[in-house]
Amino acid sequence: MTETIFSKIIRREIPANIIYEDDLALAFTDINPQAPIHILVIPKQPISKLEDTTETDQALLGHLLLTVNKIAKKVGLEKGYRVVINNGEDGGQTVYHLHLHILGGRFMTWPPG
Ligand code: AMP
Repeated sequence: MTETIFSKIIRREIPANIIYEDDLALAFTDINPQAPIHILVIPKQPISKLEDTTETDQALLGHLLLTVNKIAKKVGLEKGYRVVINNGEDGGQTVYHLHLHILGGRFMTWPPG
């Protein structure tokens, strides 16, 4: 895949407010927050988008969701939160490095825009 700005964040070449890190994942606050708490969880392995994943990514994808759970507890989102993956053009994806948005700290309306 073509490298994105998120690879530079993983390598600490550009600054980010890093919330969590382990061998497989990194989480940092979104630069343009859409809620009082807006955190992105990304795999360190560069995967462009959800539709590029296969069975071989099963453990990693599970790890990312469990990481969301861990981070939500860490930042105090006990009232709930929303997890979003924008996939591809119609999904509104703008950065082509797979990421899960954690949005919280306010009530989330439905349907999304
Ligand atoms: P998406 O539209 O789902 O691809 O989301 C990409 C997200 O990355 C957007 O919410 C952007 O605000 C966020 N973003 C882009 N550049 C940065 C950056 N340097 N640091 C933190 N978040 C970023």
